Amino acid sequence: MKGKQDQLFGKLIVDFVNASTAEEAGTVFIRGAAAAFGFGHEFLDQALGRYPTLKLFEDSLSAGDRELVGLLLEERRLLSVINNLPCNISLASYDYDGNRVLTFKIQPLEPKWDKENPYEEDIFRVPVGTGEGAWLEEVAEMFDDRAPLSTEMDEVKEQLLASMKEFIELGDRILAVRRAIPPERTHEAQKMAAFYNSIQAEQEVLTELQERWRMILDEIIGAETLSRNHVLLDLLLVYNMVNRRELAVSEDGALYEKPLFEEKYFTERAGLADEYYHNVLVYALVEFLRARGNRDKLRGCPDCKTFFIAGPRRAKGKKCSRCAKKKGRGTRG
Ligand SMILES: [Zn+2]
Repeated sequence: MKGKQDQLFGKLIVDFVNASTAEEAGTVFIRGAAAAFGFGHEFLDQALGRYPTLKLFEDSLSAGDRELVGLLLEERRLLSVINNLPCNISLASYDYDGNRVLTFKIQPLEPKWDKENPYEEDIFRVPVGTGEGAWLEEVAEMFDDRAPLSTEMDEVKEQLLASMKEFIELGDRILAVRRAIPPERTHEAQKMAAFYNSIQAEQEVLTELQERWRMILDEIIGAETLSRNHVLLDLLLVYNMVNRRELAVSEDGALYEKPLFEEKYFTERAGLADEYYHNVLVYALVEFLRARGNRDKLRGCPDCKTFFIAGPRRAKGKKCSRCAKKKGRGTRG
């Protein structure tokens, strides 16, 4: 293993936070963990090979599936637009390949006290017949009857109707493509669209985590009294919860302590993405801070906001090596 383990843990943290994209953050996390925990090349190839990235998605998407996958993703996007309107009405389903019925869920404007659940949503169905415009009118009427009456809602209604129109047209296009191909190709396209969505969800988690960890590092670097620092105390709570000694018995009957993070933690991921990353990052930062003097070496560059760990030659440097170089000689550090 090159370098001391606490330095490798520190590097894992700063590389993760400094990564310029969520996708990069995800892969430096794997690389950093492999280095810090001493996993070999085989692990790295396997873990990176299956790590969900948009590149992996692109590489595994066949040209023939591209159109349908694109339409399915657009369908999902539109559904999310519709269901994120500031409104009490949401679209629960639309079976464009079956009875062609739109099913809406409507939150009651006032609680219905005579019902067991006064806030229970009403179900409202609108059949999408062949007659163009008839169903759209029915949706508009539903909105007028059930949505709150205010001038701001006019705009919401307009957006809802426009998106609904697009959504139904998209359903027709998807159906046309699906009818022209064998069912297993449709199934494959649905799988790929779900894969894309899971990557996107993963990257949203990573972006949030990077932001959260930037704040954590700023706090740790700037804290006057570490013993009363709530960010650090919270991290230690997580660390103590995660860092449990667990004994196991081996094939030959010997009792041994299981390593906290084994290779399979990274290759056979289980649980929430958020915790998957966070628990390792917490462990790494605490292990880094445990080594004497490391806290003082952890710095944030005032010029470019990059985090870095000052090496022995730059013990007093306040700026990251790149910014320090830019200013040339004559500046400290
Ligand atoms: Zn810098």
